[in-house]
Amino acid sequence: MDSAYAELRSQFESIFGKTDDSVRIIRAPGRVNLIGEHTDYNDGLVMPMAIEPEVRIACRARSDGRISIASTAFPGELANFSISEKIQRQEKSWSNYMRGPAAELIEAGIPLVGMDALYANTLPVGSGLSSSAAIEVGTAQALLTLSGNSADASRIAVLCQKAEHEYALVPCGIMDQMIVAGGQAGRAMLLDCRDLSRQFVPIESRDLRVVIVNSMVHHELTGGEYARRRQQCEAGVAHFKKSNPSVRALRDVTIEQLQGAKEQLPQIVFRRCRHVITEITRTAKAAEHLQSRYYHEVGDLMVQSHQSLRDDYEVSVPELDYLVEQAMTVKGVYGARMTGGGFGGCIVALVQPAAVETLAGHLSSTYQKKFGKNPAVYVTTATAGAGVAD
Ligand code: ADP
Ligand code: MG
Repeated sequence: MDSAYAELRSQFESIFGKTDDSVRIIRAPGRVNLIGEHTDYNDGLVMPMAIEPEVRIACRARSDGRISIASTAFPGELANFSISEKIQRQEKSWSNYMRGPAAELIEAGIPLVGMDALYANTLPVGSGLSSSAAIEVGTAQALLTLSGNSADASRIAVLCQKAEHEYALVPCGIMDQMIVAGGQAGRAMLLDCRDLSRQFVPIESRDLRVVIVNSMVHHELTGGEYARRRQQCEAGVAHFKKSNPSVRALRDVTIEQLQGAKEQLPQIVFRRCRHVITEITRTAKAAEHLQSRYYHEVGDLMVQSHQSLRDDYEVSVPELDYLVEQAMTVKGVYGARMTGGGFGGCIVALVQPAAVETLAGHLSSTYQKKFGKNPAVYVTTATAGAGVAD
């Protein structure tokens, strides 16, 4: 780790020059959601954890109010803007993910200084592990640290979510920024998307590894399908609101109430609602079971979550189904499911440490044989949220 930071420092100095001022290293992790999928926009529960792959930012204060940034992901490009004028979004530029947090911190009344910064990832970009939130939260941490300020994790998360909406133009929920800013080592976060309250549950590294496998499938229609799912959830809410005006979201509807309305709801709306309502219950139960270290029970809930996403919510694809099915044939795997919005992306598995190698080998070879693609595999424990690393 120290040698990676030393290497980053020397890359920083070769781009921005050497001075006596100290260079700080900020780290911001990626994240994976263990359970609670498509529940966030229904005021439900999610259970993400911060992962070992991360974004590292070498940064140094500047006194002229300018922000100058480079990234090893975009070699040779330098982005520049100033904190003394309104920070504009720039069409098609990766710097929007840095411009946004800077602008939102200033808007929130936090006085900043300029900075030079070099970004480097061990976290893959655009793979569904939220490099976007890591960049945003890391940028906010860097600017706060260099200007001698601080803010609590949930404030940083809310500012960075706003930055993603307004500067990256991605209408994301709060989960990613919340876990990247506020994750705890050795724990997953049970996050209530209605009131943003958080509870932490143990993911003991002596008992568990989390294995993430990227199907390498990207679906073009994701945006439209996502919007359609949201409309179907809203149609469900509208139905229950008629008889009970206090219903604000599917969070307020029980499975019994849904069963009672089966004849009145279009079949597809019924199934979409059934996924969301049962998924919220599964997420709460998974947190209880993790607390008690009942890993088999947690694993069963993950598999049920996958089946519900596949059959009721219809957001899986054959590649994800296959990876989950194959993962479950390996001894020592408690559970597996697709993670993220669906139509491609990753699966996540909860695994005994001793089973990791067998699982990785099995999935790589069977998936390659069936789909002709080499899946990227990440093995991780639960890490801490973003902060100063050095
Ligand atoms: P994900 O969050 O799943 O990784 P997104 O599409 O939401 O994927 O975000 C990826 C975007 O984040 C990239 O297109 C880029 O603009 C920005 N980004 C991520 N990592 C870096 C990096 N190291 N340097 C510069 N920009 C980055
Ligand atoms: Mg993202």
